[in-house]
Amino acid sequence: MRIGIGIDVHAFGPGDSVVIAGVRVPYARGVVAHSDGDVALHALCDALLGAAGLGDIGMHFPDSDPKWKGADSRELTRHVMALLRARHYRVANADLTILAEAPRIGRHREAMRRSIAQLLGIGDDQVNIKATTTEGLGFIGRNEGLAAQAVVLLHAAGSEASG
Ligand code: MG
Repeated sequence: MRIGIGIDVHAFGPGDSVVIAGVRVPYARGVVAHSDGDVALHALCDALLGAAGLGDIGMHFPDSDPKWKGADSRELTRHVMALLRARHYRVANADLTILAEAPRIGRHREAMRRSIAQLLGIGDDQVNIKATTTEGLGFIGRNEGLAAQAVVLLHAAGSEASG
């Protein structure tokens, strides 16, 4: 088994929605980003890459590469999963925390869970999405941006002890 952790932050900017975990959430603002600025999938990709010992998202999808401009982060995640599958890793589970004062993600939580489960090729019950504010403290508390943290556990295909 191998464990990985990832974190990502994006500032709010002009726009009318925020993409979180591949789910577009209507909001009075958007995020400033080279890609679609999906903090949850960026944290998740870093956790996956970290667990596999494959560096970080910036190495695989550099901001300087126009190929990833405005990229759908689901494509980045699929690319990362292809790297892991080539190395015979499978995801045991993923646990994410979204840190934001707004938008509230409660009613989008199940859609986010399903979205990530599909991207990782695992069951919904192997994905958990949590959300928290920071009680008005810091840049998140001032509603200047949002953040996400992800932890994943990988196992080598065929080495699964049980189900
Ligand atoms: Mg990012």
